[in-house]
Amino acid sequence: MAEYIIETNKGKWEVVVGLEIHCQIISKSKIFSGASTEFGDDPNVNVSFVDAGMPGMLPTLNEECVHQAVKTGLGLNAKINKYSEFSRKNYFYADMPTDYQITQFRFPIVGEGKISIDLSDGSSKYIGIERMHIEQDAAKSIHDLSPSKSYVDLNRAGVGLMEIVTKPDFRAPEEAGAFLRKLRSILRYIGTCDGNMDEGSMRCDINVSVRPFGSAELRTRCEMKNVNSVKFVMQAIEYEAKRQIDVYEKGGQVIQETRQFDPSTGQTKVMRKKEFAHDYRYFPEPDLPPLILSDDYIAKIKQEMIELPDAKKQRFVSSLGLTPYDAMVICENKEVADYFEKAAAGHDAKKVANWMMGDFFAMLNKKHLDINNSPISPDNLGRLVELISKEVISGKIAKDVFEIMSETGKDPEKIVEEKGLKQVTDISAIEKIIDDVIASNAENVAAYKNGKTNLLGWFVGQIIKASQGKANPSIVNKLLKEKLDGA
Ligand code: MN
Repeated sequence: MAEYIIETNKGKWEVVVGLEIHCQIISKSKIFSGASTEFGDDPNVNVSFVDAGMPGMLPTLNEECVHQAVKTGLGLNAKINKYSEFSRKNYFYADMPTDYQITQFRFPIVGEGKISIDLSDGSSKYIGIERMHIEQDAAKSIHDLSPSKSYVDLNRAGVGLMEIVTKPDFRAPEEAGAFLRKLRSILRYIGTCDGNMDEGSMRCDINVSVRPFGSAELRTRCEMKNVNSVKFVMQAIEYEAKRQIDVYEKGGQVIQETRQFDPSTGQTKVMRKKEFAHDYRYFPEPDLPPLILSDDYIAKIKQEMIELPDAKKQRFVSSLGLTPYDAMVICENKEVADYFEKAAAGHDAKKVANWMMGDFFAMLNKKHLDINNSPISPDNLGRLVELISKEVISGKIAKDVFEIMSETGKDPEKIVEEKGLKQVTDISAIEKIIDDVIASNAENVAAYKNGKTNLLGWFVGQIIKASQGKANPSIVNKLLKEKLDGA
């Protein structure tokens, strides 16, 4: 891609970014207890003694979370580690009753992998995955219910998380944005995380450093915690890179610290000096044995894997004739890709894609509908495209038919029939309309013959109008030209 170079009057810089993303695992119960993970329940109803940190309570690993983690690892083209273990990460947090988090430290369940991202100039790039481990989420503090008190809701305490750590492979804000969209798309395809950043089920920590352009050094980085939208992630990187460059250019040093991105100002500000791994006094979790996966177990999950967005995109390009860009847009969301495949079956796939990316998405947006609630079934959209391909209706009439379909959900054929919208391809009927138009516009006919040939378009317009939009334009053009030039 075009290089992202930050140029000041003192020199050229580049940004180096790595991401750590916490993704909430979709599972019925929590990772170490049987309490429900249901979102939106009354506070503190989905809490077991384990989640509440009661003395003597022992965690039990939820197999469903392990299954989801392995599936995710496969989706990240990553190595699944047959041996992994849990550790205690000790720290005080008001919304963590145990004062430690059970996580994975030395031996994570998923090792190195890679994801391909698509950039706006049409190029793509691989981003390395360093590791992915599983751990428990903290509870939630609520500060805005009382002027003098804070409340704690333990429903989220102990919900399973997958923490995905990338390599510092990003060189531009756009790359980080493309990665998050691709990751979210993969997680939704395989159903291991719902990817809703605004609800906190996918939370992004960003590590940013800068260096003179072309240098290979890794300088001190700063971390922005829990940024909750793709747009904010890109803004945070841009701001933070400029801030650090400014520090260096004024002769200062960047200090390793945790900063917070403020969406209302677009700036980052210091939260606390960075803690180091040894501050957490990690040690192996004494209440859980190491997690050992058999080849069989991993192989079975491999068989469950469905076609992922990149493979689908490739297939739509090579066997259905979509452009890489169209295929990328269609494949980002599995429901959209499924709808497209149904709609395109047996019809002109490229035209179906055009309709989807144009009028169809615009209609859904306008009606605030999700594709699963579309008033137009995929089959009907395919048949509408077929009516155009077979010249039963013109592209212009098709827009009216589409509009009626979106209001009524009716078949396109039925609408065309009921409203008498069939394109007139009957030559004698069209000839009659042309003759009428020529007869009543003698002046323009004369002007045309005297060289104003651009009047042809005007005549075509009049004839189509006289046919109420139903005359086939290519037949009109051909006959009209014959009559005007010949007569
Ligand atoms: Mn974590």
